[in-house]
Amino acid sequence: MSSREEDLNIPASSDPRVVVLGAGFGGLTFVRKFRNSGYQVVLIDRNNFHQFQPLFYQVAMAGLEPSAIAFPIRKVFQKRENVFVRQAEILEVDPEERLVVTDRGNVQFDFLVIGIGAVTNFFNNEAIAQKSYSLKTLGESLGIRNRIFEDFEESLMSRNYNDRQKLIDFVIVGGGPTGVEMAGALAEMKRYIIPKDYRELDPGEVDIYLVQSGEHLLPGMRPESQQRAERYLSDMGVTLILNDRVVDYDGESVFLKNGDPILAEKLIWAAGVRCPEVPGLSGEEQVDNKGRFLVDQHCRVKGFENIFAVGDIARMDTDDYPYGHPQVAQVALQMASYVASFLDKRGHSKEKKPFVYKDKGALATIGRNKAVADLPRFSLGGFLAWLIWLWVHLYALIGTRNKLIVVINWMWNYFTYDTALRLIIKQKGNSAEAKQES
Ligand SMILES: Cc1cc2nc3c(=O)[nH]c(=O)nc-3n(C[C@H](O)[C@H](O)[C@H](O)COP(=O)(O)OP(=O)(O)OC[C@H]3O[C@@H](n4cnc5c(N)ncnc54)[C@H](O)[C@@H]3O)c2cc1C
Repeated sequence: MSSREEDLNIPASSDPRVVVLGAGFGGLTFVRKFRNSGYQVVLIDRNNFHQFQPLFYQVAMAGLEPSAIAFPIRKVFQKRENVFVRQAEILEVDPEERLVVTDRGNVQFDFLVIGIGAVTNFFNNEAIAQKSYSLKTLGESLGIRNRIFEDFEESLMSRNYNDRQKLIDFVIVGGGPTGVEMAGALAEMKRYIIPKDYRELDPGEVDIYLVQSGEHLLPGMRPESQQRAERYLSDMGVTLILNDRVVDYDGESVFLKNGDPILAEKLIWAAGVRCPEVPGLSGEEQVDNKGRFLVDQHCRVKGFENIFAVGDIARMDTDDYPYGHPQVAQVALQMASYVASFLDKRGHSKEKKPFVYKDKGALATIGRNKAVADLPRFSLGGFLAWLIWLWVHLYALIGTRNKLIVVINWMWNYFTYDTALRLIIKQKGNSAEAKQES
């Protein structure tokens, strides 16, 4: 229970206090970069670990174990005496009182950096929200992994074709990098794993549908990358449904706006994000229609000198990005570094330059030796793009141990055409219950 009388037990200090909400790409990077010992820094997250979202789909597909892409927050700051980490659910911000309210108590701030990211957007469709799977947390990734293998097990005991189809078919909604990567990984599972593990099952019966409301996959990437990705996936046996949208789902049939219903008990929703509300600070004048905080050129939330927002939850309109920056890791990292330097130089008379995003390109992998890369000057596909994808993700992962485990897993998967983690590990009860809890 939250209470304004309780507090998070942060030692009193005469130094100004920066409270950082969220230890994702933005929040964690801010605290790592902000090394000014004249401040007290409090970092709050609901988890005691940082999670590397770009590789969630590999956990869902049994290619990596969850611990390989998560890192304990406290370990990052073991040697930073002015940094205090608290595991708590952020409930509210009171800008007048300079107070953050959490489920474990409150904390006062002089400066606030908000980096709580985004959540899945189901566009107000309750049925889809309740019955589909999304890929926004490690818990959800594990939930998908459990469900996939539970359903394959069950399918072997089903004599009825339609019942089997519901268990072994997949519908993925959203043709962005997450949907594309998930579809590619499923197609590889169908090709390399099913014939070995589930010999009695006809792999030809496993259908993978990728539904995208627009004309092309990977909106935002160059046309040549979009076409390459579409070609790769089609060649791998993925059915692409473009220019259509999923309008309803009852847990067994996926209803499209234009086409016939598809039988599938696994609908994976990767069709968009919105930002969580921050009560006390999400007035209409502060947020856009995706729930992002409107920020100035220094990442300060509109109307406040001491409250910053970074990453997915920040919308900064510039000439190059009139509707805000893309919600990707690089933006969060760069905004967080900028705010760290901005606060560090606070009080210096020199005028601070506005934030400028350096676009380093976009990547999506589709499968073995197949990826697409939009680099600042040109686009690439195939093996070279795939190597770039591997290197960039490995480089961005936190922790030498994690990097090592991921490399070993990738090499194992590559040379054996196999993934080693096809375990059904339930939290409690069945995986649907686990999903509700995650
Ligand atoms: C499946 C998937 C794949 C992706 N792939 C790519 C990719 O390939 N390349 C790329 O550039 N980007 C990718 N992204 C996007 C990228 O992960 C985000 O842009 C990035 O994580 C944004 O960073 P952030 O710091 O704003 O938020 P996040 O990294 O999401 O961090 C938010 C943090 O806030 C915490 N939090 C949220 N609400 C609360 C609360 N109420 N109380 C306490 N703590 C809270 C969360 O636990 C989390 O630690 C992907 C995202 C997903 C979901």
